[in-house]
Amino acid sequence: MNPEKLVRLERMGLGPVWQLRSHADESVAMAVTDATAHVATEFATELSTDLAALDWDDLEATIRDCARCGLCRGRTHAVPGVGDRKASWLFVGEGPGRSEDLEGEPFVGPAGKLLDNMLKAMQLARGVDTYIANIVKCRPVDADGSDRPPVQNEVAACRPFLERQIDLIKPTVIVVLGKTAATSLLGLNEETSLASLRGEPHSYQGIPVVVTYHPAYLLLKPEDKAKSWRDLCLAQSLHDER
Ligand code: SF4
Repeated sequence: MNPEKLVRLERMGLGPVWQLRSHADESVAMAVTDATAHVATEFATELSTDLAALDWDDLEATIRDCARCGLCRGRTHAVPGVGDRKASWLFVGEGPGRSEDLEGEPFVGPAGKLLDNMLKAMQLARGVDTYIANIVKCRPVDADGSDRPPVQNEVAACRPFLERQIDLIKPTVIVVLGKTAATSLLGLNEETSLASLRGEPHSYQGIPVVVTYHPAYLLLKPEDKAKSWRDLCLAQSLHDER
């Protein structure tokens, strides 16, 4: 790795310590019935058709008013996304956490600061040729009030919003942050490991997709930042080729 890249990598370590959101109830995801998921998928197909003609403002208004899955009941704010609506870079996480729910913006708080540092290392910035979104737009929360990953029917219900966002943005490259976001966007089995998805380009509707770690994970496992940097370098090379 050249010195300039090492400096950029070092910059990525500026984020403060943060506790990874709880994933303790992944068993909840496993408990979702096939029937529920099927209904959610049918519902999502209808929604995709309805969204196809919406511009950005109408799309965001629709997301903020949405009650298509149970996550609407606990939200403070829906979190459509943030950034340049014509960005060549799209970053996708799994869903809003507590801070994001309160502020209505994705990736705020310590994990957001680390993502900002990752962008800076790539000579990017939030809102400048980048758009940041999530698979689900409302905060998934456990019965005990802690953050959790979205489950299958929530992903299926919300996916058409991200699909429409991608249609509108037309990004050059998509960087997916974390396993849940990766398997959801790529339509893979949720048991697929992150390790098996890293290191090679994937594709969404012909757009290159690179999978890397979620910033919250990197705050807990900073020794994996070097691997994440390699993923970002892969994304950069794919971006520069197009
Ligand atoms: S998570 Fe998505 S589908 Fe569910 S209520 Fe929020 S915007 Fe609607």
